[in-house]
Amino acid sequence: MPTKRVLSVHRRDASHWVGDGFPVRTLFSYPELGAQLSPFLLLDYAGPAQFPPTERRLGVGAHPHRGFETVTLVYAGEVEHRDSSGAGGKIGPGDVQWMTAASGVVHEEFHGRDFAQRGGNFEMVQLWVNLPAKDKLSPPRYQEIRAADIPTLDLGDGRGSLRVIAGEHAGARGPAKTFTPLHVWDLRLQSDQPLEVPVTEGFNTAVVVLQGDVRVGDSHDLSSAELAVFAPEGDSVQLSGGKAAHLLVLAGEAIHEPIVGQGPFVMNTRAEIQQAAVDYQAGRMGRLS
Ligand code: MN
Repeated sequence: MPTKRVLSVHRRDASHWVGDGFPVRTLFSYPELGAQLSPFLLLDYAGPAQFPPTERRLGVGAHPHRGFETVTLVYAGEVEHRDSSGAGGKIGPGDVQWMTAASGVVHEEFHGRDFAQRGGNFEMVQLWVNLPAKDKLSPPRYQEIRAADIPTLDLGDGRGSLRVIAGEHAGARGPAKTFTPLHVWDLRLQSDQPLEVPVTEGFNTAVVVLQGDVRVGDSHDLSSAELAVFAPEGDSVQLSGGKAAHLLVLAGEAIHEPIVGQGPFVMNTRAEIQQAAVDYQAGRMGRLS
């Protein structure tokens, strides 16, 4: 079986603030890459950025989501979360929050209070994962995944390590429960030796470079905040030159359904988006107490 071919390379330098806590670059989003990267909808890369100590609450206040999942991966700093189901918590470096908004939640996302008071470096990724139409109105769910519960595999020969957050790699299963078959792997490379990473045949696949410089395929040189989109055909991706690089590998079975989104809602039709707005306004996604 051949290796997956690079279809396109993307870079977005534009950054914007989400609330007053998250200076993000949207590295991909569904209006452009929804079909090629299904089931992944969007990836916001926040930071790395230095925050001075503050008593203020930095972040984004109560807002809804419906129809998909938000996956928050913290690398530096802390994120506190609270939602209308009563769930909440704080995650720190290496931890992941996998929130299934599905029929709808209202939540807030802030820097952790202790981190805000200390100040320091903040770095985080938020990934949006689509749900199949049949699951878009299922009950919300919240998975708090601690770093200690994420299998970390040694890539051998001093190449680095791979954390299996979701899906499976080399016999290790990630802790995240997902609605469709997908992999989310967090990869740290330590040498510039070439590496062939097996990725399921037929899965849509992207390699996102958070830090460092990496050659993907045989001729695409990527640096921080760039990503490569691969063809589903083939059963591996090739990486090399990634000394001290930090990457995400995202791969999954495509959901072949229309994507219609607006703001915090991602559904299949315009009417469902209008219904989501009505339901939110009527308090049917709950309220933050
Ligand atoms: Mn949110």
